[in-house]
Amino acid sequence: MDFDDTPEEASFRAHVRSVLQEHASELLHVAPGEPVDARSREAELRDTQRVLAEAGLVGVPWPREYGGQGGTLVQQAIVGQELGRARVPTLINHIGIGMCGPTVIAHGSDDQRSRYLARLLRADDVWCQLFSEPGSGSDLAALRTSAVRDGEDWVVNGQKVWTTLAHVADYGILLTRTDPERPKHAGLTMFVVDMHAPGVTVRPLRQMSGGADFNEVFFDDVRIPDSERLGEPGEGWRVALTTLMNERVAIGGAGSDIGPSPESLTAHARDRLPALAPEQQVLARQAVGRALVASLAARYTGYRRFTTLSQGGLPGPEASAGKLGGTAAARLVADAGVRLLGDEAVLGATADGDDSWQRAQAYVPGIAIAGGTDQVLRNILGERVLGLPPEPRTDKSAPFSSGGRR
Ligand SMILES: Cc1cc2nc3c(=O)[nH]c(=O)nc-3n(C[C@H](O)[C@H](O)[C@H](O)COP(=O)(O)OP(=O)(O)OC[C@H]3O[C@@H](n4cnc5c(N)ncnc54)[C@H](O)[C@@H]3O)c2cc1C
Repeated sequence: MDFDDTPEEASFRAHVRSVLQEHASELLHVAPGEPVDARSREAELRDTQRVLAEAGLVGVPWPREYGGQGGTLVQQAIVGQELGRARVPTLINHIGIGMCGPTVIAHGSDDQRSRYLARLLRADDVWCQLFSEPGSGSDLAALRTSAVRDGEDWVVNGQKVWTTLAHVADYGILLTRTDPERPKHAGLTMFVVDMHAPGVTVRPLRQMSGGADFNEVFFDDVRIPDSERLGEPGEGWRVALTTLMNERVAIGGAGSDIGPSPESLTAHARDRLPALAPEQQVLARQAVGRALVASLAARYTGYRRFTTLSQGGLPGPEASAGKLGGTAAARLVADAGVRLLGDEAVLGATADGDDSWQRAQAYVPGIAIAGGTDQVLRNILGERVLGLPPEPRTDKSAPFSSGGRR
């Protein structure tokens, strides 16, 4: 593929830069790698996304009727690159834009699309994804949160965990079990849930990186109107696959780096290598070399997938390969970055107060778990790409209530 902008892309990029310049005073800006706490900076983050949405820079490839620009994925990537260059932090509604919105577009009713999508793009409403539970992460279809029909409503009871942004979210897409007598993948149903509804309790969880980005969410007799169902009852797994595929593309399939960029590692190496002891230099150079090779390979492989997507292809198992390769590279980059700190690597921050490499090293392992762990992605690649025999499964046809036994 050609890595240079076409004339149209170059003019779009110039347009994005001029919009970002024009609105600079209304946007939140952060140092590279600076963590942004969604709770304490919620208002600034929402305002930033609203300003960008009103300027036409959010949801670029979404259809115009839902508040998007009817643009291309390449244009979306250009916006992402320019936001990074301008030091604008990740949009507060990135889960809504990357996963929940596309799921509502694909499976929602016209009424849901018109009520939710434009507001989501403007961050009038922030969204979260309520899938994982204490007993079901990789084996998501084993989830137990139940929804029972009661007149025009469904009554939900259960617990979700690791729900990113639930503490600031207004809505979530919620995967529930509605028929335990059917096999586990067939008894699920997806809903849009109002996170401010009575019976919803959100408890933040503290991470080793120091942040508290995700939460436990409890549902106690929460009533959801049937009109908030996404897809048919029992079709929840199919709906969830739309979300998961978009999640893998959002994390590793669209040509953007996961974690610190190879360029930031090169700059860091130029800065720090000369100060290291000779024996530390040797190891650091090797670590930097390995990390650069892996991250550039991940980036260019991502561009190939991205070209397929931008030509109308659908994300397939290669999105899983992208996430796997991208997170492996991100780990190497973060580890090399910390190694370059020499003796200061053991400290929480360097003498000049920079803790960005330590934070990256603490943050990247989580990305290797979110949206499908490395092992699960390898299973997908083994089965769907290499055609290897699948894992033995006893739970595909028996009722969920029997624990997978006939
Ligand atoms: C940063 C972050 C953000 C997240 N955000 C959200 C969110 O917003 N919403 C949400 O719903 N969830 C979210 N999650 C949860 C995430 O989806 C789960 O953590 C993930 O699916 C793994 O599930 P688990 O934690 O239950 O681990 P488990 O599934 O219990 O896995 C434990 C270990 O067993 C391995 N393993 C499991 N099954 C197999 C198998 N068949 N073959 C080989 N090895 C296997 C796994 O690879 C892992 O090493 C987030 C997680 C992280 C880290």
